[in-house]
This record gives sequence, C-alpha cells and structure tokens, in this order.
Amino acid sequence: MRTADIALIGGGIVGSSIAYHLVAAGCKNVVVIERETSQGKGSTGKSMGGVRAQFSTPVNIQMSLYSIPFYASFEERLGYPCDYRPQGYLFCATAEKHLAYLRANYEEQVAMGLKNVRLVAGDEIRAMFPQLRGDDVLGGAFCSTDGFVDPYSAMTGFMAWAADHGATLMKNAAVTAIARASGGFEITTTREAVSAGNVVNCAGPWAAEIARMVGITLPVEPLRRMLVPTEPFDQFPHTAPMIVDMSNGFHFRPEARGFLLAWNDPEETPGFKTDFEPAFIEKILTRAADRVPMFENLAVNPKKAWAGLYEMTPDHHPILGESPEVPRFFFANGFSGHGVMHAPATGKILSDLIVKGSTDLIDASLLNFSRFAEGRTIHETAVL
Ligand SMILES: Cc1cc2nc3c(=O)[nH]c(=O)nc-3n(C[C@H](O)[C@H](O)[C@H](O)COP(=O)(O)OP(=O)(O)OC[C@H]3O[C@@H](n4cnc5c(N)ncnc54)[C@H](O)[C@@H]3O)c2cc1C
Repeated sequence: MRTADIALIGGGIVGSSIAYHLVAAGCKNVVVIERETSQGKGSTGKSMGGVRAQFSTPVNIQMSLYSIPFYASFEERLGYPCDYRPQGYLFCATAEKHLAYLRANYEEQVAMGLKNVRLVAGDEIRAMFPQLRGDDVLGGAFCSTDGFVDPYSAMTGFMAWAADHGATLMKNAAVTAIARASGGFEITTTREAVSAGNVVNCAGPWAAEIARMVGITLPVEPLRRMLVPTEPFDQFPHTAPMIVDMSNGFHFRPEARGFLLAWNDPEETPGFKTDFEPAFIEKILTRAADRVPMFENLAVNPKKAWAGLYEMTPDHHPILGESPEVPRFFFANGFSGHGVMHAPATGKILSDLIVKGSTDLIDASLLNFSRFAEGRTIHETAVL
C-alpha cells in the first residue's frame, strides 16, 4: 500500500492546482489519484477557458482577484505556459434591468479592488464592434484583465510543477472505496491502495460519488454544456473579448482562426450526458446571427462540436473546506462553471486550510459545506 500525507482524488485543474499549492507550501507527500490514463478527460478538457472577475458576489470576485493575476504570472512562477490572453469580457445589456444589474456588480467589483472594469455606453459598444447588431444595446460592462487561458496547459503546468517538486500523479487508478482508518483513510483504487492522512475530493462532476463513499450527500449535480467551434472566419476581429449578449446568454470568443460559440440551453436537465446534440447547432447559430449578422456566413463542422459537464451547486458557488462530519476529508467541488478561472484561488485556499487550518484569501465559512444546513447560501447570478 502506498502512503500519503494528502491524497487528492481527481487530476483535473482543481486537483492539479491544489497539488501545486500544497507542494509550494512545503508539503512533501502529496498523491493525486486519477482514474483516466491521462489528465483532462473530465470537465477541464471541455472548458471554454474564460477567466473573469466580473461576478456579482464579493467572494467570487475575491477568488478571481487572486486567480487572474496568478494566471498572468503563471509562466514566471511555474516555468510552464497557460496562454493567458487578457482580451476582456464585454457584457452587452439590452434591458434596463441588465444595466442596473451591471452597475450594481460594477460597484461591488470596484469596492473589492478590481481596477480594470468599467461601464460602457451603448454608443461605445457600437463603435468598438460595428459588426454587432447594436440597435437594442443600451450599454454594458468591460473588464480588460478578464480573458481566456488554455485550461489543458494550466492543468498540466500545475501538475508538472508539483511532480517536479515531489508530488505523485497516479494515473489509471479509479477510486472505488474510501474507509476511515486510524490516522486517516484507506483508499481502494483499481491500481493500488493508498493510505492517507487527509483526502481532498477533486472529482469535478463526479464529486457526489466520491462523497458518498464516506457517507456524505454532497449537493453537486452534473449539467451538460455544449460548445460549437467555427471554421476559420476573419471578418470579425480576433482581438475581440468574450462578448456576452445578455438578451439570451449567447456568448462567443475568438478561438484559433475561428470563434467558439456558447449558449446555455435553459431546457437542459441535470445528468451525466456528454453526447453532443446535433439540433443544438441550429439553436446556437440562430442566436449568433441575431447578434452578429455576418455570422450567418459562419461555417461549422458538427463533428468538431463537443459537450461537457458543469458541476452545479444549489447556489452556484463552490463547496470548499473540511467536512463537518468526516474530519480530514476536504471538498473542492461544485464550481458551477467557474472551476478553471477559480482553480488558482481554490488551490491556495485548500492548501491554507489543510496546512494552517485557516486562510486569509476569503472568509472560508462562506463556502463551507455547512452553509446548506444552516441556510446561509449565497446566490451567484452571473453564471454563463
Ligand atoms: C462546456 C464547458 C465550458 C466551460 N467553460 C468554462 C469557462 O469558460 N471558465 C471556467 O472557469 N470554467 C468553465 N467550465 C467549468 C470548468 O471546466 C470546471 O469547473 C473545471 O474544469 C472543474 O475542474 P475539476 O478539476 O474540478 O474537474 P475535472 O476536470 O472534471 O476533473 C475531475 C477529475 O476527477 C477524475 N475522477 C472522477 N471520479 C474519479 C474516481 N472515482 N477516481 C479517480 N479519479 C476520478 C476524473 O477522471 C477527472 O479527471 C466549463 C465547463 C464546460 C463543460
């Protein structure tokens, strides 16, 4: 049996960032247990890679205020690239209620210390992007340090640095049982058993299955999200930010020589569905051409489109920290579509909580598991 001080279950971007932060904090015996033969087969490899600080709740803004500068200095810190591109996020409001919402968020973001966010007038948006249908755009919000990263590179960069400095990645090892033992846990995997003093659940959309192994019902549900990349298209600038049409949630960003289109179908229902629905192409192209008339000429190869899973919690905030029921069992789950952009902060918070028992990055009680039982949920509405 292998022994570890800390076993992380799941080698996606969250497990990898926690491994990095633990090793950077001086932890010597960190093991990441991953059931696949390579990293990135979970949500991380399916992500759109958007990173933004334009949230509505202070704790989500704080997580981004750590994470985005971290991504900006990733290569300097780790020696591996993450391809951070600060091209911004532009929210386009088409109703007064959207404007009021963006204004309230803007005030909160500035109060929290975000420097590069500003409200923009409808005319400014029309001047920035004359290719948009702007007749109904009343205004918006833009933050220049928001943008994109390459989630796969960030994940493998975190893990490679951790492995270079002593952590172990056990691949092809599915966790099938976790028993509580004196001094910690005995973890059964399809490869070899691991005895660990601390366990962190980093299993993304499968987090509830891992929690069930220690008798915990975790409110994390998988929800399918589909993305459609286009063929090369050069009539819209590739320096564009993530542009969000608040009238229906359609958003897109440049990707390679084309664009990556996203829209969250409100009719989607929870479940482990990862098949791409061909009918989605028409739904999204209709919305794309409605906001960007020249997108009527976009070419799309349905074979290149894909689906992945968000890991949703009831209040769209992650569940972080130690279980109140099972000491030394930690959660890093339920990112509700924000796990890439919040992975650096999550790594730091979990490392602080495991090593020191507290963190200065956020008020960790806000995101603990007990908030559900105690009626302290905090709703994030800026979910794309
Ligand atoms: C279409 C789409 C677009 C997205 N866009 C964005 C975006 O723009 N910005 C953003 O921040 N986030 C985005 N997300 C969300 C983001 O991808 C996730 O929040 C993030 O990747 C979660 O990382 P993770 O490491 O927790 O999970 P995962 O990457 O899913 O990793 C979990 C790992 O656990 C492993 N595992 C599961 N069960 C076991 C077991 N029993 N034993 C061992 N290993 C196990 C899995 O194999 C997997 O590798 C998007 C998600 C999707 C699907």
